[in-house]
Amino acid sequence: MTSNGTSNGSTQRPKTGIKVVVVGAGFGGLGAAIECHRNGHDVEIYEQFDELKSLGDIISFGPNAGRIFHRWGIDLRAYGFNIHKYDTGEIVINQRTPEYDRTAPNFNGHRGELHAVVYEHATVELGIPIHLGNKIRTYFEEEGKAGIILENGEKGDVVLAADGVRSKARKSVLGYEDKPKSSGYAVWRSWFTNEDMLADPETAQFCNNGDTFNGWIGPDMHLLFSTIKNGADCCWVLTHPDEHDIDESWSFPGKLTEVLDALKDWDPMCSRIVSKTPESRLVDWKLVYRDPLPTWVSPGARILLLGDSAHPFLPTSAQGAAQAIEDGVTIATCLRLCGSKDNVPTARVREAQKTGESTRDMWHKTDWDKVKDDPTVIQFPRLAWIFEHDAERHAEEVYGEVVKQVTAAAS
Ligand SMILES: Cc1cc2nc3c(=O)[nH]c(=O)nc-3n(C[C@H](O)[C@H](O)[C@H](O)COP(=O)(O)OP(=O)(O)OC[C@H]3O[C@@H](n4cnc5c(N)ncnc54)[C@H](O)[C@@H]3O)c2cc1C
Repeated sequence: MTSNGTSNGSTQRPKTGIKVVVVGAGFGGLGAAIECHRNGHDVEIYEQFDELKSLGDIISFGPNAGRIFHRWGIDLRAYGFNIHKYDTGEIVINQRTPEYDRTAPNFNGHRGELHAVVYEHATVELGIPIHLGNKIRTYFEEEGKAGIILENGEKGDVVLAADGVRSKARKSVLGYEDKPKSSGYAVWRSWFTNEDMLADPETAQFCNNGDTFNGWIGPDMHLLFSTIKNGADCCWVLTHPDEHDIDESWSFPGKLTEVLDALKDWDPMCSRIVSKTPESRLVDWKLVYRDPLPTWVSPGARILLLGDSAHPFLPTSAQGAAQAIEDGVTIATCLRLCGSKDNVPTARVREAQKTGESTRDMWHKTDWDKVKDDPTVIQFPRLAWIFEHDAERHAEEVYGEVVKQVTAAAS
């Protein structure tokens, strides 16, 4: 996974004179900033963290995001998926890795490591200014301008609020506070190095033959287990029912005993893998959700929500980060095409969001007799309308028509 900074990622279009402030330096914010830079807008980023930290564990990007990374000059590599029945452990299907397309690669890897590559691309290679340790509390919008208020004054013509699932900007856009909701599920998750896995002859197979990807699908739970970097690192995520109160926080230290208890009737290999996890590296991650919003754009159309602040995803969509990046491409392209900050269509991302629920429910309510007849029914959906989407080309193609519709509706 490298950033070579040499492809058309470094090509910048002529300056538009639009000043954009991005709040949040997650994938959504960094992606939006990179795309604003490529499209000729003057952009700076404000981020509450004081420094870049390698946070999180596995994250997935489909080819629709791989296509964007490729344009930026960031190269990604990936591998394939064995799906097991939860109790017997039998492999019901090996879902083949799609043919590798270096212009639109599929990628599963460590969030923190890929984030560092994108961060360096934005701030070092492209020189986009970033202001760390700046927690934004206030947004303003008045006739002809909008921005954020900092100790040293006001900033920006347009604000792209990429401030994540606990977004503060949502209130400015919606005019009321809406709280995240429990999705009814949580994920125990961990990322650790392979020493204990290699020491056990039963589990060494997952680490000493290159990268592997296995999933156990069962009633109301699923366990996904990956080995990464040629088997050197291991990562598993176990989605399970959970109605915990997530008002204040959604990520807690996890307890191994609870995970092992949940897996007691499953293929013993699941507990064997989990038992290799250092408890200090176990996280209990509550999956919060938000209802689809009526709008992502403030009344004056100068504050825009993007990424998780607009549309948090469930992990079973494997599209949250990819859609955040697509948002930035779409918004930056639209700003270039007319210099206005009008709304953009929202239907695509809502459909993509729903796949998180449909895949989870399909797996948790599997009819194993049907799988016996046709194991492909349990495959992870790889939907062409998601993966073949080219956000930049699409924004360029539909922009004129959307402006016509919005103008007609407003008059
Ligand atoms: C610490 C962390 C770990 C994660 N780990 C995983 C993972 O392991 N696997 C996975 O699939 N997804 C993970 N995610 C979620 C995933 O990155 C996002 O779902 C997806 O990439 C969309 O990104 P986003 O930029 O919209 O939001 P986020 O990635 O949540 O980024 C939001 C950014 O905004 C900043 N911010 C928030 N409020 C303010 C404010 N008031 N002022 C300034 N800055 C602000 C935050 O510090 C953060 O950097 C993680 C997110 C975070 C923040």
